[in-house]
Amino acid sequence: MPKIRVLPKHIADLIAAGEVVERPASVIKELMENSIDAGATSLTVEIKRGGVTYMRVTDNGCGIAREDIANAFKSHATSKVESEEDLLSIGTLGFRGEALASIAAVSKVEILTCPPDEDIGTIYKIEGSEEKLIDDAGCPKGTTIIVRDIFFNTPARMKFLKKDVTEGNSVAAVVDRLAMSHPEISIRFIRDDKQVLVTKGDGKLSGAVYSVFGKDFTNTLVETEYELDGIKVSGLLALPVAARANRAMQFFFLNGRLVKSVTVQAALEQAYKNSIMVGRFPACVLNIETPLEFVDVNVHPSKTEVRFENEKRVFDAVYYAVKSALEEKDRPNKIDLTRMNLQKEQQPFAKESSKKYEQTSMPELPKRNENFWATTLPETKFDKSLLPGDKVATQLPDEGEKLEPPKEYKRSDGIKLHRPAEPDASLLPGEKVSVQQTDEGNAPDFRVIGEAFDTYILVECEGKILLIDKHAAHERMLFEKLKSEAEPVKSQVLLTPQTVTLSKEEYSAVLSNAEVLKDAGFDIGDFGAGTVVVREVPVMLIDDDITALVEEMAGYLLDSKAPVPEKLDWIYHNTACRAAIKGGDKTTRYELDDFVGKLLSNPQIRYCPHGRPVLIEMSRTDLEKQFGRIV
Ligand code: ADP
Ligand code: MG
Repeated sequence: MPKIRVLPKHIADLIAAGEVVERPASVIKELMENSIDAGATSLTVEIKRGGVTYMRVTDNGCGIAREDIANAFKSHATSKVESEEDLLSIGTLGFRGEALASIAAVSKVEILTCPPDEDIGTIYKIEGSEEKLIDDAGCPKGTTIIVRDIFFNTPARMKFLKKDVTEGNSVAAVVDRLAMSHPEISIRFIRDDKQVLVTKGDGKLSGAVYSVFGKDFTNTLVETEYELDGIKVSGLLALPVAARANRAMQFFFLNGRLVKSVTVQAALEQAYKNSIMVGRFPACVLNIETPLEFVDVNVHPSKTEVRFENEKRVFDAVYYAVKSALEEKDRPNKIDLTRMNLQKEQQPFAKESSKKYEQTSMPELPKRNENFWATTLPETKFDKSLLPGDKVATQLPDEGEKLEPPKEYKRSDGIKLHRPAEPDASLLPGEKVSVQQTDEGNAPDFRVIGEAFDTYILVECEGKILLIDKHAAHERMLFEKLKSEAEPVKSQVLLTPQTVTLSKEEYSAVLSNAEVLKDAGFDIGDFGAGTVVVREVPVMLIDDDITALVEEMAGYLLDSKAPVPEKLDWIYHNTACRAAIKGGDKTTRYELDDFVGKLLSNPQIRYCPHGRPVLIEMSRTDLEKQFGRIV
């Protein structure tokens, strides 16, 4: 148990100082970091009402000697730094000696602590920086700190606190990160009397990530372990197929400390380049270990910003760690391996290995037998009507029945379309646009000439040639439709509700915007522990990738400070963009005619929701000038 000293002024002045207590989450972060620095192997965090009324952190670390307790609560009192040189190689999470002092200044703190070699522990109480009690206490080895009524004496700051549930989710995000950065510590998190997280503390990162984010996320991860020039990079990377709509699931830990680093992020994303779509981001939990003197953490009070002595070296280490893991792991080769084994089995000279294979790998596989297929599917009992294709024949209409084109038909990408005779029910090009409805009859005379690059529709209309960007036009039409629909937007219940796991901040952002989402046609609720459940989506998105959609909206809602109407607009844009027909999609002549008719009867629709033009035109005169027919 190291001695706590108040730092001399000249050292204290070298430390990036500033506020550490902004909200309950910042208190929990500092207290947990202290427990980790104290060598704890087991740590319990408990909060009530988002931490606003009650926070407790209990550890089994080195404890604090009675004579040092009062010092620990003084500004610039620390056991972690002694000299200026120490600041050049910081190996602990804390070093500023400010946290306990600032926490005690704005709340009611109680500490129970007992170093391992003492029989009797100490209780110490301090409220608003005023010492209230110091006495003997029977308590387990280690330290418990209880913080009550944060900002009880600074009502101005109290006002800045968000709803309890939001504050609680921020605390959860802090606990998640510390649990993942220290899988060697068993961490338990209790929220309003319910245990919401527990990690084993067996040192396995994947186990800790599993506890924090669950099965779905963990299943997408592959391991990496790499070393370059003394920089070790290890951790878990999501396969490119599991790329996300934002960076909320990128976690970088540098020497056990959560950091933000543009260099590391750039290296990660560079390594994924070409394997994921533009606008999608990799997820990861990456640990980077460097010599301590290689990093300067004394840059910012929050200690999450760091400076590297050599950014390029870090970039290279991360880049190669990610690239090599992806090259090795991102191959669908498991099935092929089984096949190879099967082939070996059939080779007479591979007896040894085939025997092993038979015994261990797939004992339940039936023996290959000349008559196997014949006996399983006896020719005589085979029911031909089950063959695909035969269905059509059996469903042919009776003679005399009027043959009509089907009322509903499916586009090649699976989206159902209706004949325009039923304009109301259709969502895609056949739909009726209800914005400032002009009569369909109002469409000027036009003739669809055709389509270029499956993207631009060529139309002759009133002495002009029109070029219509079909995606932009359709997006705008859907956007107007969504905006004009009575709120909430028409939505459809999913057959099976879908769960989506998010970072705690995104989770919080989605849940606190549940009303806005409801108005936009989404029914998204809480599924607990960072997971949301999607029950309803706007009808036009029923066939969309729900996970990607929710991640995308969560990312936006997390970053956006916009007022509700603006948020709604963004969600409408996003919905319209996703549901709209894409450039390059095949469209039938029939659909084109119908679509252009709808578009031209709505003179308002001239720009897509992003402001790009929907339509450009060239008059006959322009054309004739170009050809030199007229001057
Ligand atoms: P810092 O962590 O920057 O040193 P703090 O104000 O957070 O400053 O803590 C002051 C000192 O109190 C620490 O240096 C440490 O010696 C002691 N301390 C705080 N929390 C604990 C704990 N849970 N177990 C043991 N010692 C602790
Ligand atoms: Mg500290």
